[in-house]
Amino acid sequence: METLSTCPLCGSSQLSSFLECTDYTVSKEKFKITECESCGFRFTNPRPEEGVAGDYYKSEDYISHSNTTKGIINKVYRRVRKITLKNKYHLVASASGKSTGNLLDIGCGTGEFANTCAKFGWKVKGIEPSGMAREFAKKEYGLEVADAGSLNSFTSNSMDVVTAWHVLEHIYDLKGTIEQVKRILTAEGVFIVALPNCSSADAQFYKEYWAAYDVPRHIWHFTPAHVQALFESKGFKLTKILPMYFDAYYISMLSEKYKGGNVNYGRALVHGFFSNRQAKKTGNTFSSEVYILKPNR
Ligand SMILES: [Zn+2]
Repeated sequence: METLSTCPLCGSSQLSSFLECTDYTVSKEKFKITECESCGFRFTNPRPEEGVAGDYYKSEDYISHSNTTKGIINKVYRRVRKITLKNKYHLVASASGKSTGNLLDIGCGTGEFANTCAKFGWKVKGIEPSGMAREFAKKEYGLEVADAGSLNSFTSNSMDVVTAWHVLEHIYDLKGTIEQVKRILTAEGVFIVALPNCSSADAQFYKEYWAAYDVPRHIWHFTPAHVQALFESKGFKLTKILPMYFDAYYISMLSEKYKGGNVNYGRALVHGFFSNRQAKKTGNTFSSEVYILKPNR
């Protein structure tokens, strides 16, 4: 295990203990989340060393890396994914103002989103650390998918759009990754980032059971304010924040499962609905948010 003694966002060494969560999907181990007393940023601490982090992804339940159809949550996930894939593509087109171009999907998993963009005529590349998911994306969709260390080798000013859907919360070298994305984006390029939001109503309700803490795979726990601070410090301008309505329901379902063993779907629906309603009232506190970021040039 590796312990951070300073806040990776602001550098403060005034850190306090925030929450202890269980890894419900793989190891059943407990992990602590630290909160920076200066800027409020939260992160899993201590955390597995980067070299062994892959051990915590070995689960059939880790559905973003497999295509299991077992269980009702996975069925719902797959149904919703069909709708959200198209919505995500339309977001790419509107945020970039382009109908075709070059797109890199970081953490492309088994390649469904990248494939959707390819179908709409985009030139698409992917990056994915899981060898199994990479092979699936190559075989099933004929996608060009590189491994996680390859970001540095992409040509500068070559991408119109870079996407990272629920990926940055897993990445150890967060600032280095953002720097590389800035380098490979064109001057008019756009970085589209989706992240869970630990200041959402569902996060506050479920506390240590909130499924999007997903320790120790999620090492960073963002709020919109921290996303903005991080990207502004790396030369990006945050131009828009958009909600992901389905995530409140999906995360509430998983959280119910973690809390009680069995899923109480009624309660999950109520809490998903409640979370979205609270977010609409208060602004920018949805369970997950999409951030539209443009590099300063
Ligand atoms: Zn801090």
